[in-house]
Amino acid sequence: MKVPSAKSFERMEKFVKIYCEKTGTSTSPQEGVTDAVIKGLAANVDELKRPLCPCRFYPDKQEEIKHRTWICACDDMQIYKYCHCLLFVSPEGLPITEHLPEDHEGRKTYGLVKDPTPDKGRALRHKAAEREKERRERPS
Ligand code: SF4
Repeated sequence: MKVPSAKSFERMEKFVKIYCEKTGTSTSPQEGVTDAVIKGLAANVDELKRPLCPCRFYPDKQEEIKHRTWICACDDMQIYKYCHCLLFVSPEGLPITEHLPEDHEGRKTYGLVKDPTPDKGRALRHKAAEREKERRERPS
């Protein structure tokens, strides 16, 4: 992985702290996880000027950023409070899966993980139908 600039790293670190507070999520208790994801996000800020999610493969990153889907905080986070990268998790370090559709990969992988703060986050919860349509039509 490319080493990001200190400026982008600090920007993303600050974002993560604020976003955790806003959504009632935690960073991972497992050492190294948060640092690695923040570095990936910051490297994408350096390269693309956008915090594109670092945990996924994109055939064309420039094409991908034209969609909002995987700009952190991504649609899955803002709709379902589910973070594929384990950046925003429960206090136990598990990704929250309670709000996901039952056939979502997150449910299959982690089972049902309850949201400890259901009154917080999910600013785009009304966009679930749109997101599932996109998932079918533009697998991403
Ligand atoms: S899965 Fe979403 S919320 Fe988690 S790091 Fe990637 S873009 Fe951010």
